[in-house]
Amino acid sequence: PPVLEVRDLCVRFDVKGGLLNRTIARVHAVEGVSFDIQPGETLALVGESGCGKSTIGKALLGLVPWTGSVRVLGRETRGLGPTGLKTVRRQLQMVFQDPGASLDARMTVGEQVGEPLDVHGLESGSARTDRIAWLFRRVGLSPDMMGRYPHEFSGGQRQRICIARALAVSPRIIVADESVSALDVSVQAQVLDLLQELQDEDGLSYLFISHDMAVIDQVADRVMVMRLGQVVEEGTRDAVLRSP
Ligand code: ADP
Ligand code: ADP
Repeated sequence: PPVLEVRDLCVRFDVKGGLLNRTIARVHAVEGVSFDIQPGETLALVGESGCGKSTIGKALLGLVPWTGSVRVLGRETRGLGPTGLKTVRRQLQMVFQDPGASLDARMTVGEQVGEPLDVHGLESGSARTDRIAWLFRRVGLSPDMMGRYPHEFSGGQRQRICIARALAVSPRIIVADESVSALDVSVQAQVLDLLQELQDEDGLSYLFISHDMAVIDQVADRVMVMRLGQVVEEGTRDAVLRSP
């Protein structure tokens, strides 16, 4: 069965303005989007800036109000309260574009990788330290670096730290939102290799949001193309990228 089943997803934003700050317009950011992701599969979500890609990721995490149906590991998430949403966020983690901006400059990277363990009440004490060390090794970083701060790392290393943080709670699905877009091409390739390795070994599924066709070509099993909030094309990578 699919790990993620999305049906007729809609997200609309009210735009406020004017002297009375009333609703002056309504943006249909995502309009009737449906898709499935199978275990171990990478679905790439492509389309020009503003077409609604990030909004889909945010809706899946309950960060924006939405309508429709979203099933995570077979369970409907519509109408879940805080406890239910917390469970969904364990199963589905997000890795963002700018690892600099999503890391806290004043906190050691070890503390940040361990943070989801605290949020979800998982390991503590020495088991927590062991888990953080394991996560560092998992993403190709030395556990000796745990006590350092984000500015001491390169962009590629910071992205590895963000991936380690996402992996801390053993999710089944990762939403990668332009996760390698800010990196040099050679560093991109290394991070993409890491994501591929995690998928091969752990059966992770990815919703891979990107505007970069070269990257999509490397990672995608299937590709979904969006335009103005709607899906305009969907199919296997070869069918979508190599169609005449
Ligand atoms: P993409 O990720 O494809 O670049 P987004 O999902 O960020 O696109 O945005 C889709 C549309 O929704 C855009 O028109 C954007 O301006 C609008 N939008 C996104 N977030 C908000 C918000 N909080 N309030 C109003 N409009 C928004
Ligand atoms: P609450 O109102 O307390 O947040 P919910 O109705 O949101 O309760 O969730 C009820 C229970 O269902 C919670 O214990 C939650 O962990 C569990 N749950 C919700 N969604 C999922 C899911 N996708 N997979 C597994 N368990 C879930």
